[in-house]
Amino acid sequence: MVRVRFAPSPTGLLHIGNARIAVFNWLFARRHDGTFILRIEDTDIARSEKKFTTQLIEDLRWLGLTWQEGPDVGGQLGPYLQSERLHIYKEICQQFLNDRLAYKCYCTQEELEERRRIARLSGKPPRYDNRCRNLNDSQIKAFETSGMNNTIRFKVPDELVAFDDLIRGTCQFDMNLVGDFVIMRSDGTPSFHFAVAVDDTLMEITHVIRGEDHLSNTPCHILLFNALQRKPPHFAHLSLTMGTDRTLLSKRHGAFSISEYRKLGYLPEALLNYMMLLGWSPKNKKEKFKVDDIIETFEISDMSKASSIFDHHKLDWLCGQYTREADTDTLTELAIPYLQTAGFIPADESKIDKTRLRLIVDATKNNISCISQIIQEADIFFKDIMISHTHAEFLSSEISKSVLTSFYQELQKLNTFSPQIFKEILTIVHEKTKINGKELYLPIRIALTGKEHGPELHSIINILGINTCKKRIERFLFVKR
Ligand code: GLU
Repeated sequence: MVRVRFAPSPTGLLHIGNARIAVFNWLFARRHDGTFILRIEDTDIARSEKKFTTQLIEDLRWLGLTWQEGPDVGGQLGPYLQSERLHIYKEICQQFLNDRLAYKCYCTQEELEERRRIARLSGKPPRYDNRCRNLNDSQIKAFETSGMNNTIRFKVPDELVAFDDLIRGTCQFDMNLVGDFVIMRSDGTPSFHFAVAVDDTLMEITHVIRGEDHLSNTPCHILLFNALQRKPPHFAHLSLTMGTDRTLLSKRHGAFSISEYRKLGYLPEALLNYMMLLGWSPKNKKEKFKVDDIIETFEISDMSKASSIFDHHKLDWLCGQYTREADTDTLTELAIPYLQTAGFIPADESKIDKTRLRLIVDATKNNISCISQIIQEADIFFKDIMISHTHAEFLSSEISKSVLTSFYQELQKLNTFSPQIFKEILTIVHEKTKINGKELYLPIRIALTGKEHGPELHSIINILGINTCKKRIERFLFVKR
């Protein structure tokens, strides 16, 4: 039975790079009918905040991820908040001390820092020199009676540790380069290494799928698994995600937290799809897919060893495909709060003209990647348009004027409107003016919207109504210069 976990530290908002690790754990569990566990690594009391735990749970759920065991859903092998497991770490640590697998270290932070500095100066690895490993009884007694604080360190054997990573193949580490590491801090909280290995053991994790940044931690964890008399789980270290400039993803790249994407109105299924393309692609190379379509073929060993590149343009392109295909009624409901905030529609929902709104959403959904963009795309339907100086000049040219005059005359004749009628009147305008293509469309579009791009012209006219369209064009026909 496959058991995997996502183990975030709640020290900030869930970022796309970290959420991606959750996604691949979840995929792997689904692929193997396994159990996906959410474990919150909140032993760093100073940096962990409950609000981040709440938020990350909300964000993961919004993405569509579900877990069978976790702090919010419980489970047989909990608790799933490390801060509620301190008694467990303490007990096992004591056992390690009893079995002489670990020892008390009385070195102070200042001493350790000074020794690291000297080691660096003499070109040696800045590892702990295992000084307290062989303290005799009277030395220990002296430290104890002087009331010195102590940490507890694990005795690292001088050996090679090797393991087969499911993505990277055989990895080997010389533990001689690693000093005895802390498993329990002086404040009684476990170190990251210890808490992870204890929890992965007790939670019966079969596969540890995490970022490549943890690769060098893995040999320490393997030693701890051995000490815990537990066969180490399988490991899969996923390559990290970079920005298009090939540096590690950060806010600098405009990469947001998941909650930020959510606020902007990205569709969760689109974001999820995009995250699955970071370091993996389906065999048929299709970029847009549903989880159910690919789940049978998902193999963790197919994941790329090379870093993946987070590309905002691609994300927007893919998310745009999703909004285009999304159901208009659903999008309309999602768009309402954004349009209310922009002051485009009444705050009182009963006063909203939903029929018109639906037409607007239908007309604009091809041009947006996320719902909040509807504000820029649909403003032409809610407020007076602005014409830039350049556009005003363009509209005052002979060609534009003759198009607008002729188009205006045709509008005047209309009582009703349809895409077909629009086609017909454009043909008439073309026949009268002999103007074609962009020179024909653009003056009309700019006069009606103040923009060079936007929804289909026939949709714009249909939504604005013939009278408003005439008024917008009149500005350019009757203006004296
Ligand atoms: N808490 C660690 C992190 O947020 C994850 C540890 C692990 O997956 O083993 O990076």
